[in-house]
Amino acid sequence: MTGTLNREFPPIFDGHEDFITQVRMRTPGFPPKPPRDFLVESEEGHVDLPRALRGGLGGCFTSIYLTDERAEMNAVGYAMREMDDVFTIADRSDGRFRVCRTVAEVRDAFAASAFASVFMFEGADPISWSLKELRVFYEAGLRCLAPTWSRSTIFAHGVSFGDALPATGLTPPGRRLVAECNRLGIILDVSHLNPAGFWDLVAESHDPIIASHSSVKAISPHVRNLDDEQIRAIAKTGGAIGINFANMFLRPDMKRDSDTPVDLVVQHFAHVLNLVGDEHVAFGTDFDGTDVPGAIKDAAGLPLVCSALKARGYSETSLERICNGNFLRVAEEVWK
Ligand SMILES: [Zn+2]
Repeated sequence: MTGTLNREFPPIFDGHEDFITQVRMRTPGFPPKPPRDFLVESEEGHVDLPRALRGGLGGCFTSIYLTDERAEMNAVGYAMREMDDVFTIADRSDGRFRVCRTVAEVRDAFAASAFASVFMFEGADPISWSLKELRVFYEAGLRCLAPTWSRSTIFAHGVSFGDALPATGLTPPGRRLVAECNRLGIILDVSHLNPAGFWDLVAESHDPIIASHSSVKAISPHVRNLDDEQIRAIAKTGGAIGINFANMFLRPDMKRDSDTPVDLVVQHFAHVLNLVGDEHVAFGTDFDGTDVPGAIKDAAGLPLVCSALKARGYSETSLERICNGNFLRVAEEVWK
C-alpha cells in the first residue's frame, strides 16, 4: 500500500466505476478465487488503489449497482451491504481510501494521494414511493442518484438493450424524487434513462444534472449514448457528461471489440468540447462494469487519454476541467 498519485496531469475524478461489485464477489472457476482486494494490485478488472495511483485516478462516484434479482428481492438490504463493503475498504486502508461527502474532502484526498470515493446509486431501486430511504442514504454519504439502471423502477424507465424504448417519462413519484434530490443535495444522473425520462428530468430539476457514464451518439449510435440535443440540454443546466469507455459505446459499429484506438475515445471528448465547450465534459469510464479499449486496459492507462487530449491542443485549464473540475463544480453547486 505505497505510492503517491501520478500528477503528470490533473487528478481524475471519474463519473462511474463498478469496482465494488468486482472486489466483493468471488471470481468464478474451480477452485473459486477469493474476492480481489481493492488495496492490492491485481491483474484482474480495471481498478485497485495501486493502479489508480499510477494512472492519476484520484477518485470516483462509486456505483452501488443491483442485479435484477437483488433489486427485486431486497434492494435496501443489498445496497446497504455494498455500502458496508465500501466502508470496510476505507477501514482497512489506513486513510488511503476515503468515503467523501463534500468537495473539500475530495480535494483533501487528492492532496493526500488517497482515493476519494463518493457513493452513487445506479438505479433508485432501494428507494420506495415514500422517499424515506433517501434521507437515510444521504446521511450515509449518497451524493448522486440515477433514477434507473437499464430497467424500470417506480420512478422512471431505463433503456434496456434490444427492447423497444418505453415511451413514457418520469412517473408522479419520479417527479417527487427529483424534487427531493434537489432539496437534499443529491446530483441526478441521466445515464440509462429513456429519452422521455431524460427530457422530463431536464425540465423538473432545478440543479445541474450529469450523465455519469454516457458517450456520443453522433459517433456511436448506441441507445445508451447521448444525441447532440441532449448534450446541449445537459450543458444548459450547468451539468457535465462523463465519457464512457465501453467499447460498444465508443465504436461506430457498436461491437464489443477491445481493438478500439485511444484516438476514438478522444473523439468523443472532442465532440462534446466542440459542441458546448470545455465546462461540460469529464471522464465516466465505467471501469469494472464493462470491457474497455485494450490500449487503455485499466486505470493505469488513463494518462494515455490525457496525453492524447493534450496532443490535440487542449489547454491546462481545459484538462483540469475535464479531469475533475467539471464534476466537482457540479458537486459544489448541488451538494451546497
Ligand atoms: Zn451503467
